[in-house]
This record gives sequence, structure tokens and C-alpha cells, in this order.
Amino acid sequence: MQAHCQCHAITFTTPLPAPLKIYICHCTECKFQSTSTYGLSLIFPAFSFPESIQSNLQTWTRTTFQGREKKCIFCKVCGSRIVHYIEGQPYYTLKGCVEGLTKEMVDGAVHIWTKRAVTDIPLGAERYWEEPDEGTGDRI
Ligand SMILES: [Zn+2]
Ligand SMILES: [Zn+2]
Repeated sequence: MQAHCQCHAITFTTPLPAPLKIYICHCTECKFQSTSTYGLSLIFPAFSFPESIQSNLQTWTRTTFQGREKKCIFCKVCGSRIVHYIEGQPYYTLKGCVEGLTKEMVDGAVHIWTKRAVTDIPLGAERYWEEPDEGTGDRI
């Protein structure tokens, strides 16, 4: 998939043609990060950004609910959030900055932190009150 920030200073191709999984997170952190009602998390294998765009990337770090350091990469020019990751984990979370996202893909999203939801969760969607208990956490 083609990925870019709002101003296109950051452009790159995702390492797979589609996300491995999509989460829609209704937690308070995602509401503030997205300045909207929920956050979109597209899970891809970890990758490196092209050298040509690295000078336009900046990283902000926050502590997750599980107490780990989450690296949050954004565009220095327009401020769009691009990727979240935790050092040493094999996945990157793209924050909705891709072309070609379809309704069918988002229909299959897993809704997490639904106890904080301020919008309806689609009927039949896989959902969790907080996060699914798969040991690793940090899906946001
Ligand atoms: Zn930008
Ligand atoms: Zn969240």
C-alpha cells in the first residue's frame, strides 16, 4: 500500500499489500492522538523508512498502559502521526496514513477498549472491553 502523511513529505510503501490485522481502539489515548472518536491501527511487520524521508520524521515517546515505552513517529512538517512501535517488537502500527483502505478491510477490524467507546460498535464486530488477552498487549 502507498502510505503518506497529509503534506506528502513522508511517502513510503508498506512491506505487505495489506495489513496483517486492523484494530479500532476507543481508548482515551487514541482519542487525543487522533483528535477524534477512536484510533485506527494497521498492523504490519516492522520495516525501515527510506533514507530520503528520514530527516522529516520526528519521534515522541509515551508510556503505554502496560508500562512500556511506545515510540510515536510523526511528520515534522504537517504533524501527521505515521507509526507507533515498541522497541524489540516485530510489528509496526500504521495510523491510517495509507491509500487503498477499503470498507471491507475496516469491517474486519477488531474493536478494543470498547468500555471507552463514544460511537456505536458495528454488530458482529470482534470486540474487547479492554484488550484481547494475548500476552503482548500494546495494540494501540
Ligand atoms: Zn507531512
Ligand atoms: Zn487506544
